[in-house]
Amino acid sequence: MDRRKFIKNASLTGIGIAAGSTILSCAKTEKNKASKAVVNNNNFPIAICTWGFVNANAKAGQDLDAGINALDAAIAGVALEENDLLNTTVGNGGAPDREGNVTLDASVMDSNGNSGAVANVKNIANVALLAKKVMTETPHVMLAGKGAEAFAYTQGFKKENLLTEASKKAWEEWKQSSEYKPIINIENHDTIGMLCIDKAGDIAGACTTSGIAYKMKGRVGDSPIIGSGLFVDNQIGAAAATGLGEEIMKTVGSFLIVELMRNGMHPQQACEEAINRIVTKSNTYKNFQVAYIAINKAGQTGSYCIHEGFTYMKYQNGKNKNITSEAFIKT
Ligand code: ASP
Repeated sequence: MDRRKFIKNASLTGIGIAAGSTILSCAKTEKNKASKAVVNNNNFPIAICTWGFVNANAKAGQDLDAGINALDAAIAGVALEENDLLNTTVGNGGAPDREGNVTLDASVMDSNGNSGAVANVKNIANVALLAKKVMTETPHVMLAGKGAEAFAYTQGFKKENLLTEASKKAWEEWKQSSEYKPIINIENHDTIGMLCIDKAGDIAGACTTSGIAYKMKGRVGDSPIIGSGLFVDNQIGAAAATGLGEEIMKTVGSFLIVELMRNGMHPQQACEEAINRIVTKSNTYKNFQVAYIAINKAGQTGSYCIHEGFTYMKYQNGKNKNITSEAFIKT
């Protein structure tokens, strides 16, 4: 966007411009002193991701430090989890649906507003990269099921059996009761949603998951739905979600957070408001988890969740920290 258009949009959305830097004007509460957050490229790069995925976030951060762009760094970071057989919530080794099929969902968004997604894909581990291929190599935004899998082979992806012996054994045990009950804070990790700001200050993100364990065959969650599991607007910021996808989709959570930031909220406040939308509408929120992370154009971050136990990673200036999220329900 040229400078004239940016200034015009900025005046419409409440973002102030100062000479040589952008000032984000945000709500002025004691808790969220975000007003006058100055976009300063010395703050960058930054990588954040859901849960305590230390290695994935470090990988993205180091790639960003080496000058890799935000999207490719995010995809490289989440790929570590997609390839980790011990991680039963993402990629290879993910928990199957109730019929024993491991099906993966993923989405990506770049800093130009382009997006790609895949849903319900079998036999392919690196689905975030596949989502990027949908974005760059097809006229579409999302491919699902067998079509997505067939497209993957045309792009050189290899076929892998994603059901590990351990996941198969756990599924067979689950079948004894067949009780579908999404677990709050599964093994203290889950979907990985990653948001990166590269050296140039551009924002992109990736989100990848095997979805809720023992879901119905064909079920797709929030992670591949642009605006639900992930949303990026390079002028404003980005958000990503984890937890019960059905609730995230009903409130279009990640898009909501970015729009709230556009209207001046700090990422922390915006995440809190998105959780508030869920808990005020749902009578059953005590039984499920939803958690959000967000980052704005100045590199300020926030997170909020329904139940305690959610953490997120933040990489900046060579340091990779695990941050405990505040929660709506405090014990
Ligand atoms: N949000 C994912 C889904 O609903 C799963 C999760 O993050 O727990 O598929």
